[in-house]
Amino acid sequence: MKTFDVYPLFDIEPVKAEGCWLWDKAGKKYLDFYGGHAVISIGHTHPHYVKMLEEQLEKIAFYSNSVKIKQQEELAQKLGELSGYADYALFLCNSGAEANENALKLASFHNGRKKVIAFEKSFHGRTSLAVAATNDASIQAPVNIHDVQFLPLNNAETFTKAINKDVCAVIIEGIQGVAGIQVPTADFLKLIRQKCDETGAVMILDEVQSGYGRSGKFFAHQFANVKPDIITTAKGMGNGFPVAGVIISPVFKSKHGMLGTTFGGNYLACAAAIAVLDVIKSEQLVANSRNIGDYLIEKLKKIEGVKEVRGMGLMIGVELHFNSAQVRNDLVFKHSIFTGSAANKNTIRLLPPLNITKAEADYFLGEFVKALQPHLQSVTQ
Ligand code: PLP
Repeated sequence: MKTFDVYPLFDIEPVKAEGCWLWDKAGKKYLDFYGGHAVISIGHTHPHYVKMLEEQLEKIAFYSNSVKIKQQEELAQKLGELSGYADYALFLCNSGAEANENALKLASFHNGRKKVIAFEKSFHGRTSLAVAATNDASIQAPVNIHDVQFLPLNNAETFTKAINKDVCAVIIEGIQGVAGIQVPTADFLKLIRQKCDETGAVMILDEVQSGYGRSGKFFAHQFANVKPDIITTAKGMGNGFPVAGVIISPVFKSKHGMLGTTFGGNYLACAAAIAVLDVIKSEQLVANSRNIGDYLIEKLKKIEGVKEVRGMGLMIGVELHFNSAQVRNDLVFKHSIFTGSAANKNTIRLLPPLNITKAEADYFLGEFVKALQPHLQSVTQ
């Protein structure tokens, strides 16, 4: 059998990783400034993470959610404490798309409505709701889309006109990732909170990419001082182990059978997620994300060829004056640095592990300047 060929791939085969670095099968070393779409939060193969997973694997890997898995409670308790949402409840699942589907389900159970407001160019995973929102022709919309309205981000007027008592939920990314790092303003998030309160719509914050310290706060929306009704999280939560969560306000009352999953919250997923929180706390990675992120953003803004730098913490979009594809390719093949692309073709996405050091940031900056050089010349000729 062959694999179903849906991903454009670099011809590189990583066989080993540590911290912010990867090695391919020929022994070549790469700096990882992408973390596989923001998944690597505490760094590759962190010793505490490896130990927790190994120890768990030796005891029990899996049983279904028909028994008490006490690690789920430990995870919920630690997540509540670090995120500032101790009074909310946690439902564990396996991916960002699944977390968002469950969030929408909860919202519609809650108010019995169907309409959803999302924002242009947002990405909420390959859900029945969200794929159309990317405006990316390569991402095919499914046949059966919910009743979704896509509005421009940060436009108070269109949002105020659109929201009413028929709207079930408003879903918004903490920071838009796939779109090329677009940040909702604090005022816009506050307006969504206010209008959801007035109309009874549920406010869902998709923090799948922007959460877990990536923005320089535990969740990006915490810069705006708003509290959503539901928060979804995935990527950085397991540092590579598939685990996702729906963080649910106490307003929602649970009942048996309401949500469900086979694999969600299994022993290994919990071990991985607890290890991530332990390391985020003990190594103060949220603060590191903010400090190194601020440093990178300030330096990147001064580099020739850079048109705009967007983002917060270690979720950074660098928009060039020209298409970034070749620079990104050169970064990988000539400078051995992984970065990410975005729907906005001129933008490079930077999502390094949160434990990146200043020396590694400086190394990246130096190589980035070198990688831009040949392209600047061809633009000015
Ligand atoms: N939401 C956001 C903001 C994302 O960036 C992504 C993935 O890129 C998803 C949801 C979907 O996550 P998953 O691929 O784990 O289903």
